[in-house]
Parts: sequence; C-alpha cells; structure tokens
Amino acid sequence: MTDTPDSARAVVLRAHHLSRTYDEGAGRVPVLQDVNLQVHAGEIVAIVGASGSGKSTLLHVLGLLDVPDGGAVEVIGQPAAGLSERERSRLRNRALGFVYQFHHLLPEFTALDNVAMPLIVRGLGRPAAREAAARLLAQVGLQRRAGHFPGQLSGGERQRVALARALVAEPACVLADEPTGNLDRETAQAMFELLLDINRRLGMAFVIVTHDPALAALAHRQLAMQAGRLSSRC
Ligand code: ADP
Ligand code: MG
Repeated sequence: MTDTPDSARAVVLRAHHLSRTYDEGAGRVPVLQDVNLQVHAGEIVAIVGASGSGKSTLLHVLGLLDVPDGGAVEVIGQPAAGLSERERSRLRNRALGFVYQFHHLLPEFTALDNVAMPLIVRGLGRPAAREAAARLLAQVGLQRRAGHFPGQLSGGERQRVALARALVAEPACVLADEPTGNLDRETAQAMFELLLDINRRLGMAFVIVTHDPALAALAHRQLAMQAGRLSSRC
C-alpha cells in the first residue's frame, strides 16, 4: 500500500444514518440505530461488540443481503436504494466478497473448484476460472492443497480457501463476519495476519467483525458496536 491518506482514497462502502428494526412479538426491536460508516479503498476496519449488538445485521445490510428501514448504503459509489433484486445481486457480486465464521465450502468440490465457483457462476469458462482460482490459492499459501476436498483440510486451511473464494472476483471490499471465530488462538492469529498481508499485496478493503480485541487492534481502524450503535474506539 502507498501512503495516500485514507481521506484521499475512494470510498468503497458508505452507510448513512442506517436503521434496522425487527418485529418481535408485540413490539419492534431496533437493531441498528443511526449507523454511519465510510470505508476507503484499501482500508481495514475492525468492528468489535458483544454478541447480539447488531454486527452481523450491519454486515448483511452493508452487503446488500438485507434492506435497512432507514438511511442509505452506497457500494463503490452506487446507491443501493431503488435497485431491483437483480441489480443488487449484480452490484454485490461485482464489488463485494464475503467470509463467514463457518467456511460454507461445498464438500463435494475440491478447494480449487470451490474457489473457481463464483467465476463459473458468472459465466467465465472453467479453464479460466480454474486458472484464477489457482492464483488465489497460491496467494493464501494453499497451492499444494488445490486438489483436496474440504473434509481433507484443517479448520484454518478451510478458512483460507473461503478467503480465496471471497477474493477471486477481485472485490473492492471484503466483509468478514467472525472469520476467525471458529479457530484456535494461534490459527486465528495466523488467519488475521494473512488478511493483513492480502490487504497489503492485493489492496482490497476489509470490514472484519471479531470478538478478539487483540486481533481488532491489528486493523487500521477499530469501531465498536454497542446496542446497535457504532462508534470509534480508541
Ligand atoms: P451480533 O452479530 O452482534 O451477535 P446480530 O446482528 O446477529 O448480532 O443480532 C442483533 C440483534 O438482532 C439480536 O438481538 C438478534 O436477536 C436480533 N435479530 C437478528 N436477526 C433477526 C431476525 N431475522 N429477526 C428478529 N431479530 C433478529
Ligand atoms: Mg454475529
């Protein structure tokens, strides 16, 4: 990464006065309240907060998988409001990558084909998709596991395959929901360091939800989610 200040970089993700409320029995429960966020190109933002504070809901809204009740989301400068379901999917697939706590790899496909899948789904031919997938597997240090099935990989290796899959379509921003939450401490640290390394080498922005304050401290910027409100954290 160069030394360009964040304020001078393009904004890849913007949330403006977001609110999200769920119906629950008799009442309506606010889950996100007046959330504002700007993520610049190449930036790593960590979000920490107690279970139930609204972190996953925020990532779903930012990832165009859920629609806010109020406020606005912009992805690579494009307002999400008013887009059809199909247009939202297209913007999501073009601009965003996702990593979850559980890898969600397809068990009957090899690591290589799992990583190639997003490109095949968008219509790229299998050889070109596999070539790109092999490049990404090398970026996460798994070139020698390309032919393995998820069941033949360790937990940390599966998460690295999931990361390669999130990166293969060259998103501007990766949204990661507790990507190390299911790993032991040492593997979690290694996975987080890999994210930082990928960010330096490939330059995509990351928004990473984590329970672990020590890992969050490695990000460029830390935010805290508390009862649906997001604030900066010193
Ligand atoms: P976190 O990821 O920080 O643990 P979540 O965003 O998953 O928190 O959830 C925040 C709150 O919203 C919780 O109280 C949860 O029960 C509630 N919630 C999440 N999804 C739904 C839903 N689909 N319907 C109703 N309530 C929900
Ligand atoms: Mg969550």
